[in-house]
Amino acid sequence: MQFFGSSGIRGIVNRKITPELALRVGKAVGAGRDRVIIGRDTRPTGMMIASALKSGLTAMGADVVDVGVVSTPTLAFMGKDHDCGVMITASHNPAPYNGIKLWNPDGSAFNTEQMLDTEAKILDEPQLPEWNEVGKISREHNAVKKHIEHILDRVGTDHELKVAVDCANGPAYHTTPYLLRKMGCQVVTLNCNPDGTFPAHDPEPTKENLKDLGKLVVNTGADLGIAHDGDADRMVAFDREGNYMGGDTLLALFARKFTDSIVVPVNTSMIIDEMVKKVIRTKVGDVYVAEELKNHGAQFGGEVSGTWIFPEMSYAPDAIYAAAVITTMCEDEDLADIRKELPSYPSRRDAFQVDDNSAVMERLISDCKEQFSAEELNFIDGIRIDHGDGWTLTRASGTEPKIRITAEAKEQNRLEEIFNEAKKRLQEAMR
Ligand code: MG
Repeated sequence: MQFFGSSGIRGIVNRKITPELALRVGKAVGAGRDRVIIGRDTRPTGMMIASALKSGLTAMGADVVDVGVVSTPTLAFMGKDHDCGVMITASHNPAPYNGIKLWNPDGSAFNTEQMLDTEAKILDEPQLPEWNEVGKISREHNAVKKHIEHILDRVGTDHELKVAVDCANGPAYHTTPYLLRKMGCQVVTLNCNPDGTFPAHDPEPTKENLKDLGKLVVNTGADLGIAHDGDADRMVAFDREGNYMGGDTLLALFARKFTDSIVVPVNTSMIIDEMVKKVIRTKVGDVYVAEELKNHGAQFGGEVSGTWIFPEMSYAPDAIYAAAVITTMCEDEDLADIRKELPSYPSRRDAFQVDDNSAVMERLISDCKEQFSAEELNFIDGIRIDHGDGWTLTRASGTEPKIRITAEAKEQNRLEEIFNEAKKRLQEAMR
């Protein structure tokens, strides 16, 4: 695909993401749709992209509802009453970037087929309707309120925790702290003023970027810390001792709650298999997790990047709801103690330069089919080999001439053994 990546269209503003491109995307999305809802994160370039998108959408006859600055989950949630949702964001990328992500009414992001269809329309020169068929633009001021109320209906208002929140100056600034206060919590905020130049730290919710939040939790005696990325579709947390709880820890915590069935990407730790009755594995990417959640009717889906999908809400990753859920969990149990008791297996990950990703992967697949039984192999995304006491995943990069090997095992010796075997197979396939 020329414009779309796995997370929609993304790039540096006025280089890749231009008003001309946004206008074309607007026309492509507006074609055949009556009502489209549009929102943006706090980046200063969002208004420019939104203006061009709205021109394209209305030119094709679609009515546009603009919700202004909202988190991606709020936009996806609001999409249910519209034919399509358009979110202007570059997620966790730095300030020079912006992007466009498209959403279905059920909260799921556009799938590959829909992205391909939109690509074709972007390249097309569509026939514009008559002047009196041009769409109208209106403003919706209650999107955040509606999203918060929907969550409060599920989690209630009698929670008396102290929670520290870092919104990375992104669009959850007027959502997560207010939701938590309505839930009954005392909230201490950090970087909860809107500023899409991200002056405090890069909007990727890593341990390194969030060290101030860890300190704030300890210094204010908070029970919990919550952080989002640049568009708040991701949520990570800190326990009361100021320990970072990244995606893998949170996934294990959620797995303790949703023990019947969960959907995770193929590169997820085998800890989950020991905690949940039915684990469904997908290609890497939240779009695929959402797709399989729909197909299997599972309880919960997640990615260790910090993306959490609760079908009881919608098929969109909802980090705002996730913040509410982890808060209620923190009230019931001491997450700091549970975190220490969670099983953890050694893992290893490395990338190898190759000439031709697909040729090497093809040779590897046929080698593996000879060496392993069908039960041990999984080709959903790359090659995953299950050894019982460990696994390896060999997967080609989508953007570079590189193949990555990820391995996890119950014992360190066994990890080295299966990792080195996978590496040897890769080196043989490279010859
Ligand atoms: Mg994001």
